[in-house]
Amino acid sequence: MMNQQLTLALSKGRIFDETMPLLKAAGINVTEDPETSRKLILATTDPNVRVIIVRASDVPTYVQYGAADFGVAGKDVLLEHGGEGLYQPIDLEIAKCRMSVAVSDGFDYASAVRQGARLRVATKYVQTAREHFAAKGVHVDLIKLYGSMELAPLVGLSDAIVDMVSTGSTLRANHLVEVEHIMEISARLVVNQAALKLKRERLQPILDAFEQASKRRG
Ligand code: ATP
Ligand code: MG
Repeated sequence: MMNQQLTLALSKGRIFDETMPLLKAAGINVTEDPETSRKLILATTDPNVRVIIVRASDVPTYVQYGAADFGVAGKDVLLEHGGEGLYQPIDLEIAKCRMSVAVSDGFDYASAVRQGARLRVATKYVQTAREHFAAKGVHVDLIKLYGSMELAPLVGLSDAIVDMVSTGSTLRANHLVEVEHIMEISARLVVNQAALKLKRERLQPILDAFEQASKRRG
């Protein structure tokens, strides 16, 4: 009989917090708090299930290589990763926001685009941004950043940013305005393709509980 231990990859913060009710619906409680514990491997009330805490953008990688059997990752992160080796059965409808283009409030984006200007765009999401602007026929130089994209237009690093927006308050606080809506974002369950076959017996009830619980929410 093969090892039926399950490892779930989550990132700290909103993904962890919003996944907890879904795990509870599957009868599983995490017994440690990642915000206060320094541990990266957390036990649960199910001796066969453990949670690993990784960077949001690393979740697909742990699952792809089977170091985690399943995980929760934003659509933004999955598009950048490419989804190779991952089965994506459920939109969990958590960590919802949108991916948008934003510029400084004095910058006339529409006229820059009309004139065919070459725009400098700073973002963490270079793949998605490249596809978006290519589809619109807008010429861009993409500048890869790892965080705090809002700063880039304020200090002249870029004309525009591609970033995640939920309430818009961070944009407003930095005198930025949303000028284009690229796509709606939510977090998805991702499952290692081999684990889905080999550990189906243990995985399926959890996937079913997640699906039911997220349908109730959504
Ligand atoms: P890190 O903070 O480690 O650089 P991150 O910013 O991607 O990575 P989180 O801020 O925890 O990590 O975001 C996790 C996921 O939540 C993102 O991948 C995205 O899908 C979603 N998300 C990001 N920003 C928001 C937001 N403002 N509102 C709602 N969901 C968001
Ligand atoms: Mg963040």
